[in-house]
Amino acid sequence: MNVFDENSEKFLYEYLNNNSPTGFEAPGQKIWVEYIKPFVDTWQLDHYGTVYGIINPDHPYKVVIEAHADEISWFVNFITDQGFIHVIRNGGSDHAIAPSMRVDIHTSKGKIKGVFGWPAIHTRKGKDENLAPNMENIFIDVGAKSKQEVLEMGIHVGCVVTFQDELMLLNNTYYTGRALDNRLGGFCIAQVARKIKENNIKLPFGLYIVNSVQEEIGLRGAEMIANTIKPNVAIVTDVTHDSSTPLVNNKIEGDIKCGEGPSLTYAPAVHNILLQHIIDAAEKNNIPFQRAASSRSTGTDTDAFAYSNGGIPSALISIPLRYMHTTVEMAHKQDIEHVIELIYQSVLALEPNQNFKYF
Ligand SMILES: [Zn+2]
Repeated sequence: MNVFDENSEKFLYEYLNNNSPTGFEAPGQKIWVEYIKPFVDTWQLDHYGTVYGIINPDHPYKVVIEAHADEISWFVNFITDQGFIHVIRNGGSDHAIAPSMRVDIHTSKGKIKGVFGWPAIHTRKGKDENLAPNMENIFIDVGAKSKQEVLEMGIHVGCVVTFQDELMLLNNTYYTGRALDNRLGGFCIAQVARKIKENNIKLPFGLYIVNSVQEEIGLRGAEMIANTIKPNVAIVTDVTHDSSTPLVNNKIEGDIKCGEGPSLTYAPAVHNILLQHIIDAAEKNNIPFQRAASSRSTGTDTDAFAYSNGGIPSALISIPLRYMHTTVEMAHKQDIEHVIELIYQSVLALEPNQNFKYF
């Protein structure tokens, strides 16, 4: 199966280029569920927007593969009398990259365009020469002359703001754009479902392909859905930092490089037997992988599944990513293919009622 065939690439671009800020994920979830419908027996939607496709919905043994659907964004927080807009974060948005970015402000009148303005270098001579962006000094200009005009445009406190950048391919090797974190994960689990369908695999358990909301503000969608599904096993996918690019301290961030395979995390929340099961699947199928360690929690939806329902054996397979939470996040095509293959082979090798007791 070619992971990047015409149809799946079309889905990838459409899915990556839509806006699905945390708490407002419905547009992306609709695209995602339309794509996976042909590969699953049924699908469900919860009250906060988490969507999941199910293969074998009647089976009592439940395996989850999961990604998160939401992207970081900003909230309009204060509009000055002159019509400039100050924002707060919705998720871990980076003030350092804001100046000179183009944005969409999402309103009931549709998307309104704006820009993060920035004082000209000429006007910063003296004390402001090295002015650095911070949460107090970044602001959006929508071309309005007053607060009144901003309000008349449909913009109000609480409107969500996203950057405009779209997906592109660099050197036929790297996908680059915003929200690869973690819509690439959504793409990967959808391809796993497709592969199971196209290879006519009959699974001896129920498989739940879950695209969770609200990860970026504290794993909230996964927390909700873990309690709804009550799975027996969960394999989560997210992105992790490539530590080989300039200014990243690999003594702290670990030893992960794009292009060298999925990253497997060691952490207390990761179940050792499930992790070994994934490593065995990688080795048996010649899938390259890298190792990462997380002190305490993994900071991904893995924690939400692991610490739900009295403890659910959970593990994390990550896509190495450069420049996380910028609009030029980069992921290697081959890593995406290997993550799909590793989730697929790990799922296929699972048996219902597998023993996850340590002794
Ligand atoms: Zn993130």
